[in-house]
Amino acid sequence: MDQTADRPPSNLFYQSRARRPLLDRAEGVYLWDVDGNRYLDGSSGAMVSNIGHSNPRVLAAMRDQMDKATFGYRLHFENAPAETLARRVAGLMPDGLDRVFFVSGGSEAVESGLKFARQWAVATGQESRWKVISRYPSYHGSTLGALAVTGMALMTAPFSPMLREMPRIPAPTCYLDRDPLSMDERGLRYAEMLRQEILRQGPETVLGFIMEPVGGASTGALVAPDSYYARIREICDEFGILLIYDEVMSGAGRTGKFLAAEHWGIRPDIVVVSKGFAAGYAPLGAMIAGRALVEPVLDHGGFIHGYTYAGNPLACAAGLAVLDEILERDLMGNAARIGDHLKAELTGLMARYPFIGDVRGKGLLLAFELVSDRETMAPLPVGDNAYIRLVEHAYERGLIIYSRRTRGGREGDHFLVCPPMIATEDHVDEIMDKLTASLDALSDELGL
Ligand code: PLP
Repeated sequence: MDQTADRPPSNLFYQSRARRPLLDRAEGVYLWDVDGNRYLDGSSGAMVSNIGHSNPRVLAAMRDQMDKATFGYRLHFENAPAETLARRVAGLMPDGLDRVFFVSGGSEAVESGLKFARQWAVATGQESRWKVISRYPSYHGSTLGALAVTGMALMTAPFSPMLREMPRIPAPTCYLDRDPLSMDERGLRYAEMLRQEILRQGPETVLGFIMEPVGGASTGALVAPDSYYARIREICDEFGILLIYDEVMSGAGRTGKFLAAEHWGIRPDIVVVSKGFAAGYAPLGAMIAGRALVEPVLDHGGFIHGYTYAGNPLACAAGLAVLDEILERDLMGNAARIGDHLKAELTGLMARYPFIGDVRGKGLLLAFELVSDRETMAPLPVGDNAYIRLVEHAYERGLIIYSRRTRGGREGDHFLVCPPMIATEDHVDEIMDKLTASLDALSDELGL
């Protein structure tokens, strides 16, 4: 089959099955294609457009900045938007995380976190530490360093000879376990896997542990039991290992707090954010660490790492205006409120559709999972391609949702429902109407 026939020349992506509509414009929670069809952005793109599309304040701030300067190379000039944004972000961080290194996306942010951690180890005389343990499934980005800690065979397999692959432990998919333990006991059992892996690797070789506090595309908004978070922090402290929170998707308010870490009162050593940070208005991300880690690196000549576009004034001006919108309109409060409402509605679908096995997430980082048997949590057959089919049914009804087939060591179909943080109850009603019709169509199609 000629794979190039129906693809625009810019489209080489692995998940593109069909030509997508040509985008015309976007406003609030909606996007329109050139034929005038309207789509409710039920996944904020890839959990990016947190404050909705075409926000007038952000566009005005970007226009103002464009009239002044769009670029000033960071080795030549500081710039006011970057300085102000760094201070504002530091003010929102847990205790002492006050140094902000800007980048242009999530992969760059993760890459920066890994390399910064390694440089800190070298600067503090701990050259033997270089391994960063991660979880599977997980997704931390597409660049080779970020991929080395990503736990998704589909993404890593072709590149494995090029990667220095890092040790991985299972993500805490406690909802799949069928044993008499309480959720908190299960959480501790998964945390203990980190401790065992550190001992297996040799603690003196382990530099860090990277995790998404609320999972994204890889696990479908996986939230661990409370016990997990505190125990992971203790284990990292016990061995002097840096705890890196990848909040590329969960950060910037989506879970109802600026960092998901705040839900459990955890202070990671390094945090990375992107996506909702500039909410799709400009490519922007950041790696954030505390002075105690930064100073040894600066004393040894500074961080040997950087990107040409990092901290550019236009992206930072967009980031500042996005932050103003989030804070002044209490969009985090809205994410918590509307998120609770949407989660209750999604949970309500379980009474109608026996093939929905689980609904999970926090704030507006929510997902549901399809199964063939709710008791055993057995997945639907691979050949059903439910993760593709449901998205297509929703598309036809003007609703965009985000799906993946992956979970724990096993395969499973999950769907992220993550509208922008400006969503109202009416938008939730519209999502639910379209989703219900799509689930009916899937059920008919697959005989569920
Ligand atoms: N980390 C997480 C948790 C993500 O969800 C993503 C993207 O989906 C990334 C890192 C990579 O971000 P980007 O695609 O902006 O490079």
